Amino acid sequence: MKFLVLSRKPAIYSTRRLREAARIEGHGCLVVDPLRCVLHLEGGVAKVRVAGEDLTGIDAVIPRVGSYAVEYALAVVRQFEMMGVPVLNSAAGIALAKQKWASLQALAARGIPVPPTTLMRFPTHLADTIEELGGSPVILKLLRGMQGAGVLLAESTEAAESIMDTVWSLGEDILAQKFIAECRGRDVRVLVIGGEAVAAMRRKAKEGDFRSNIHRGGVGERVELTRELRELAVKAVEVVGLRVAGVDLLESRNGLVVLEVNSSPGFQGLEEATDKDIAGEMVKEAEKLALKGEDQFRILNF
Ligand code: ADP
Ligand code: MG
Repeated sequence: MKFLVLSRKPAIYSTRRLREAARIEGHGCLVVDPLRCVLHLEGGVAKVRVAGEDLTGIDAVIPRVGSYAVEYALAVVRQFEMMGVPVLNSAAGIALAKQKWASLQALAARGIPVPPTTLMRFPTHLADTIEELGGSPVILKLLRGMQGAGVLLAESTEAAESIMDTVWSLGEDILAQKFIAECRGRDVRVLVIGGEAVAAMRRKAKEGDFRSNIHRGGVGERVELTRELRELAVKAVEVVGLRVAGVDLLESRNGLVVLEVNSSPGFQGLEEATDKDIAGEMVKEAEKLALKGEDQFRILNF
């Protein structure tokens, strides 16, 4: 088979591992920067051109969409869907996962526990909100943000107000969330592939930080995939509409809560913590998808 990994960064660990895993299984694997894909529509026919040539003969696409030029990358993924090429994660699913508030709404609507969270747009609404969230400090999250950048802890109402004012003046949105202090900088990352939880780790933030992201110096250790973790993670991923995703959960005093669902989870930390072949699992899922055929991808979800 021939797989296409859409990634802006061919040299990073996860992309390299995907290519390696595809080759071990005897498949071809192209890595292309989505921004280098030229999209063409004419007479109902969709094409993708790379370096002046039409890209054809791809059996499945593995999208890895970061936080830069998301719209463009989604247009590329959708173009492949139009062409009938199976994609591991759909453009619609990735788009929802990228919107923090919309995905919290979707999760809450399906009964998945999320931390108490508030969205507002006026400073006058702040004081009441903070009280409702259990008082300061509160977590603030830019609706557009990644890997712990854009997630802050505001120590007081005044601090929250000045941060939010700055963000609003830039035309951005920011949510306020109850700080689950009892987690002490720990969370759980569960990787779901094809409706199954395949690996999990507990991440611990580095000294002095509350954010446990590996990219921010967090350290991962293997954790048992309990039935509760599995069920919650799998359901969260299904709600967001993804086939491959990393779910971040907190073990709060009142039980597990889902923080977010990541559509292009990096897996270096997870492979190191669990000794599992995550790249291999993703490639196997891409194989399955390619074998199922393309028909199911004819119906687009715009
Ligand atoms: P990002 O997209 O930046 O990864 P997350 O919502 O996953 O955003 O938050 C990043 C990290 O910050 C989490 O992994 C967790 O360690 C910490 N964190 C986020 N929300 C809370 C919260 N409500 N209470 C305590 N810690 C939190
Ligand atoms: Mg996260």
